[in-house]
Amino acid sequence: MRPLSLDQQYARLAAARRSAERAVDEGRWWQRRRRRDALARLRRREESDGLDAAAADWARQLLADEITNAWARRARGANHRDPRLLEHLPGLAEEASADAIEQVGPDPRLLPLLTVDAAIAIAHEQVAQIRAVVDDPTIHFTRTTIDDKLTVVVQHAASGLRARFTGHPGSSAGVVMSKPWDIPSINPDDPHDGGYDWERFTGLGIGRRLYLAAADLAPQLRWPRGLVSTYAEPLRDRLHAADPFRWDGASCHWCQTRGILWSDAAKSDYYDHPVAPAPPAVAPQLIEVDTRIAY
Ligand SMILES: [Zn+2]
Repeated sequence: MRPLSLDQQYARLAAARRSAERAVDEGRWWQRRRRRDALARLRRREESDGLDAAAADWARQLLADEITNAWARRARGANHRDPRLLEHLPGLAEEASADAIEQVGPDPRLLPLLTVDAAIAIAHEQVAQIRAVVDDPTIHFTRTTIDDKLTVVVQHAASGLRARFTGHPGSSAGVVMSKPWDIPSINPDDPHDGGYDWERFTGLGIGRRLYLAAADLAPQLRWPRGLVSTYAEPLRDRLHAADPFRWDGASCHWCQTRGILWSDAAKSDYYDHPVAPAPPAVAPQLIEVDTRIAY
């Protein structure tokens, strides 16, 4: 059986509480004993049924969801817990509170919990949680050369985001592959991380840190676009803008207007290319993993 959702848990406990209250009201004055028993049952229930805790859990979930919705309306495509959402408080929290209240209707137990202040507190908590993951500097890597082909796998430990890069040293190009779910985890502390959680952590700069770490580990390679998913295109453009010879961009106006084809270009073609540095926001702590150990 599927576990009950928070709103179902709350609804079930609230219904049971109401029926206990009704049992007290229904006891007639001449049924004193029956009424007394019903009252005792109600008091016991009030003390131990967990209704208040269930209401608090459900209210938190509601506010969290509505903060996410309000943020998505303002910043389409941004990460749900992008720290920048804090810059939109208290407006976001006011929207979230109003939307949550509209959903629950006149429930005197939930209404006092769905305040703007509560929504602000939840927004801060959620951002703090995601920051703790995103700011973790640990990146595991493997670097292997088989038949002259260099393969570098990098994996951000806390989020599980990972990427694999391959190329032939001496030839100019590396091929980039970055589908987290296709790459077995190299994190020795979490070897079974399937990478399916990756979407929770995209758009927060981890991908750029992975690309830059891999590039440092294979300094002799240039990086073509390869298989770039649409979500990685802005990232590729940023890397290209930081080091145009090294990184092929998804779309670069400067290169296009000059007819520069990245794969054929020489370093000198980029002397006048505008450069916008894109250093990693968190300095990586690289840990090499021995791939001879089978995970
Ligand atoms: Zn360019």
